[in-house]
Amino acid sequence: MSCDFLALAQPGVQKLSPYVPGKPVEELARELGLNPSDIVKLASNENPLGPSPLAVQAIQAALPELTRYPDGNGFALKQALSERFDVPPAMITLGNGSNDILELITRAFVGPQHEVVFSEHAFAVYPIVTQAVGAKAIVVPAKNWGHDLSAMADALTPATRLVFIANPNNPTGTWISRGDLEAFLERVPENVIVVLDEAYTEYVEASDMPSGLDYVSSRPNLLVSRTFSKAYGLAALRVGYAISDPAIADAMNRVRQPFNVNSLALAAAVAALGDVNYLGESRVVNRQGMLQLEAGLADMGLDWIPSRGNFIAVDLRREAAPVFQALLREGVIVRPVANYGMPNHLRVTIGLKNENQRFLDALARVLASV
Ligand SMILES: *Cc1c(COP(=O)(O)O)cnc(C)c1O
Repeated sequence: MSCDFLALAQPGVQKLSPYVPGKPVEELARELGLNPSDIVKLASNENPLGPSPLAVQAIQAALPELTRYPDGNGFALKQALSERFDVPPAMITLGNGSNDILELITRAFVGPQHEVVFSEHAFAVYPIVTQAVGAKAIVVPAKNWGHDLSAMADALTPATRLVFIANPNNPTGTWISRGDLEAFLERVPENVIVVLDEAYTEYVEASDMPSGLDYVSSRPNLLVSRTFSKAYGLAALRVGYAISDPAIADAMNRVRQPFNVNSLALAAAVAALGDVNYLGESRVVNRQGMLQLEAGLADMGLDWIPSRGNFIAVDLRREAAPVFQALLREGVIVRPVANYGMPNHLRVTIGLKNENQRFLDALARVLASV
């Protein structure tokens, strides 16, 4: 006897496509018979500097306690975040990466009777968490690749429970201005929760962009989500956080796993948060790398979407999949984004100078031959 278990899965789950991650270096090395050190991975918006030495030390110091369960409340990390951002610990929720935060807020507040609003070309986790709870996704067409906030406000109905906004957005790198965010928040009813996903906020150096933290105290329906995976360089450890009204934090706390953030991640995150030099260097490397890539792409006559993240979406003006495959054969891993409705773009993470150059050289060769 055999049972069709997929037919038994929740209807939303049956229709889901799993998240497609960047190709791991080890996998490509196996496939090509190459040394992993010969491969350049610019595919997952990881920090090219390697981890903060202070974070590594903190992990080493925490190792003897591996037999113990982590602090399920993450006291020390919440304390450090509370001091850094001047918000009470009761407004902080820790997540196993900020993906965990996106899932917690959805599971705590959204059911099959609800609608969740987000933009076309927005982060792939929004449709996944929405469908997983059986809610209806309302995908609002993008404007110049970015969020069209007034159209998103128009899309709100009495059934809307949650809105996801990524600022800057991944994979487009597009951003929203302070004025546009404020106008949007004015139009959102107080029983609709707005998740402002600021995964790349530490890279933002321009002053015309809002920080969600300026609004959380006055807008109880706003949740700001951030991560240690990008500018803080701790993607492998999975640690993110939300800052929200304490009542929203309370609801998320009820559905989260008791020890969702492990002790090595907690220790490393506290250390990384305190490593001001590392963050500063991450910004410098990103700014210089962005200029280097933009100059190289311009030399090739290619276009791109201006980005405020640590990545850039390149417009190849042709199907990107074969170019992606040819780049793999050159030992360069970037990210195809056809699953984001962008079949002609490749998303490239800003790397170190030599990594960016490897990509540019490989792209020039590939475009001449494919
Ligand atoms: C990378 C990313 C995240 C965070 O991922 P975690 O590693 O789970 O913290 C969240 N939102 C966006 C838009 C991202 O690009």
